[in-house]
Amino acid sequence: MALALPRFRRPHFAITATLIAAGLVLYLQHRAISALESQTGVILRQLSEQTANDIAAEVRRTIDGPIFDTLTAVNHPELRAGRLDLVAKQYAEGLRAYPHVDRFLAWNAQTEREAPGEVLFYGRNGSFSRDPALGRAIAALARQHAPAQHIYIAAEGIGPEKRHQVFVRLFWTDARRVDYFAALGFVVDPLLVRRGLFDALYETKLRALLQERGGDVPLQLQVLDEHGTRVHGPPEAQPLAAQITLPMLFYPAEDIGTRLAAGVPARPWSIRVSAARPGGGIAGVSQTYWPTVLSVLLMLVAVGYTVQANRRAADLARMQADFISHVSHQLKTPLSLLSAATETLAMERVRSPEKLSQYLGTIRGEVTRLSALVQRILEFSRLQQARSYEFEVLDLGPLVRETVDAFASSLSRQGFTFRVDEEGVPPHVRADSAAIEQALANLLDNAVKYSGDARLVTVRVRASGNDAVIEVTDNGVGISDLDKPRIFEKFYRGESASLQRQGFGLGLPIVQELITAHRGRVEVESHVGQGSTFRIVLPAQGPLQDATSNPAALATRQEAIR
Ligand code: ADP
Repeated sequence: MALALPRFRRPHFAITATLIAAGLVLYLQHRAISALESQTGVILRQLSEQTANDIAAEVRRTIDGPIFDTLTAVNHPELRAGRLDLVAKQYAEGLRAYPHVDRFLAWNAQTEREAPGEVLFYGRNGSFSRDPALGRAIAALARQHAPAQHIYIAAEGIGPEKRHQVFVRLFWTDARRVDYFAALGFVVDPLLVRRGLFDALYETKLRALLQERGGDVPLQLQVLDEHGTRVHGPPEAQPLAAQITLPMLFYPAEDIGTRLAAGVPARPWSIRVSAARPGGGIAGVSQTYWPTVLSVLLMLVAVGYTVQANRRAADLARMQADFISHVSHQLKTPLSLLSAATETLAMERVRSPEKLSQYLGTIRGEVTRLSALVQRILEFSRLQQARSYEFEVLDLGPLVRETVDAFASSLSRQGFTFRVDEEGVPPHVRADSAAIEQALANLLDNAVKYSGDARLVTVRVRASGNDAVIEVTDNGVGISDLDKPRIFEKFYRGESASLQRQGFGLGLPIVQELITAHRGRVEVESHVGQGSTFRIVLPAQGPLQDATSNPAALATRQEAIR
């Protein structure tokens, strides 16, 4: 017992150790990845926050641009000299650089002559033109706020549609700020800002910024207005990494606050930056789980196979032990009968010739049984070594008939009927005749052994497609579904074997070995209580006609051997 215990425990120990190792590897990997994930999360948040701030700054720069660049580019003396041509040049550049500007505007003595009481507009058509209603509204706005004596005026809801936002810069004649000689400015259409500002900026600057900042982890931008409605960016929201508020206003309120005659409230838009992929960088990190999970799975599969192999080896060892005790038992019976018979004969106790021939019959019978036993054991040990085959092209019909004849005559007294059916043109095969005879004899032997009371065995030979087929059918005890997958294993004996002490569980493995060496296969169909059909399928030689497709060949030859 003390010796047996470790032997039984070893596989369990190995499995437990493997499972613990696999669990440990997974746990450590999980911890490492969790740490990496949280670090990645922190980095992603910082990165996104910085990117959001940069985007806000870029938007601010764009919004401030027309005020700090375009409207200040032409100096007072030139403006005073009426150089609207210089102004137009700046306006053209401004329209290219600042997508939120709908139109620039200008007023001076010259425009007043052309369009009294209005400002003129410079749009993307590249020239000054009139828009009387809006022009008058803006001129009135300038006049209205001039008494405040500031430089800038910002207002919204201007014009007939009450839609436009307007920014105006007044150019005063002198430091007393009583008269202004020019007004420059621009009009913003909030609808166009919503629709186009971020898309245009994204194409020119923001895309590159997001890519550069994100590096391996692509970042994405979403812009929401003050009501939370999406203005820019993909509709699907990813887990948020950073969000900042952008006070959306068409002029830099903080920078020019003290010089502004009128202003408008800013609207809090949101700039949201997140990883573009679901899970972002974290998903990338999580992918590193897979190699570990895969190797653990492979490890488990390997353990499974080892356990199965162990079990098979134990099965085989048990079956071999059974085999040896069974062989010894089967050898002992004929040997004791032989020794008893020869002893009786030696003592000259047998007087009558009938008795003598009865004893001799017993001796012959037992010798035959012994040599059959020895023959089977030899066959098996021959199979264990590599057997050499002598292949030749054979006509299967005569070969099968002769084998069945020889087998039937050895059983002449047991009342079995063997029928050989040859269907169609007899198939030819390239085979070792001794091997095929042996395989067929083993199947016939089983058909007889497991026949029960039904004493008819049918052997069919036919061609089927490119195959030659030999079928051995009995009407005997049949094979259970549990046994079917295992009957070709060495030493395996099925339920039906309990009816039959003779046999070692080697007949079918030998058949399979022989037929496989011929590049063929062995199939079985069987139902308990109804009988079994074993089918040897060999590759046929040369063009064969399938019996079913050739009516002339359907004439079936039948032969009954008793
Ligand atoms: P055995 O020496 O036991 O006959 P085999 O390898 O020839 O060994 O067959 C393996 C098992 O298959 C048998 O023990 C038996 O259970 C089953 N078997 C084989 N042939 C038949 C048959 N014709 N009818 C029923 N059972 C069969």
